[in-house]
Amino acid sequence: MIHPNKKLNFGSGNAKLSTAIATFSLPAGHSCPFAKECFSKSNRLTGQIIDGKHCKFRCFAASQEGLFTSVRKARWANFEMMKNAGTVEKMTRTIQAALPYNYAYVRVHVSGDFFSEKYFLAWLNVALNNPLITFYGYTKATPFIAKYKKILPRNFRFTASKGGTCDNLIGKHKLISAEVVFSVKEAEQKGLEIDHDDSHAITSEKSFALLLHGTQPAGSPAGQAWEKIKKTIGGYGEGSKRYHMATKKEPVIYITVRNGEVVYPRRKTNTPGKFSIA
Ligand code: SF4
Repeated sequence: MIHPNKKLNFGSGNAKLSTAIATFSLPAGHSCPFAKECFSKSNRLTGQIIDGKHCKFRCFAASQEGLFTSVRKARWANFEMMKNAGTVEKMTRTIQAALPYNYAYVRVHVSGDFFSEKYFLAWLNVALNNPLITFYGYTKATPFIAKYKKILPRNFRFTASKGGTCDNLIGKHKLISAEVVFSVKEAEQKGLEIDHDDSHAITSEKSFALLLHGTQPAGSPAGQAWEKIKKTIGGYGEGSKRYHMATKKEPVIYITVRNGEVVYPRRKTNTPGKFSIA
């Protein structure tokens, strides 16, 4: 759903994301200078999809733009406004002016990417100005992440998306990454969990996988894999479930009382401890 705003267009949720997550998008491919294996774009006027020459799997976001004129228009309107803003200062103010005030999570780019360094820095400013919001997203703009690693705001979680032109920086800078797999088995063989709902992107401390989804070029390996995924697990599988902010699993009892004392577990950030309980 798109919230009309006199400035930028933000959305909330989608088929796989909770409506508790605000989303922001730019035109797929057109705003992705570091895209390679995923590179596809939809013609701004006609919606026709054009796959890049290194395209191994078609960008889902580009397919959406091909199907829905309103989606394409909203993303292009955002892109034009950002490019016209031009400076880090103006871009920061433009984003901040349209940022939905009542969301705890903002996914920066369901579609599109950091198309320039200034635009990237503008989002860092926005995150620094809004410490109560968790910003997160996938990006192939690893040169920006690497360059500004030391000043990335704690409330902006970046996942390096594999398949770009600068993947070498992922290993070099030990970035948490996500890669598209063509089957559940492939993920298992690589020892990666599959993120179906952005929960890994928001919280994971280790790299993970994304299962291929969306219309793929007919006859290509990705097209064949997608047909198989649809037949075996009905599409994006668990992706049909949206991200639930409250867990639906049996809760883990992290904190308990033993022998009259409150016991909580060892965590990275603190030492194990005990409190007396009244
Ligand atoms: S970087 Fe993302 S939005 Fe851009 S073409 Fe690749 S998958 Fe699509």
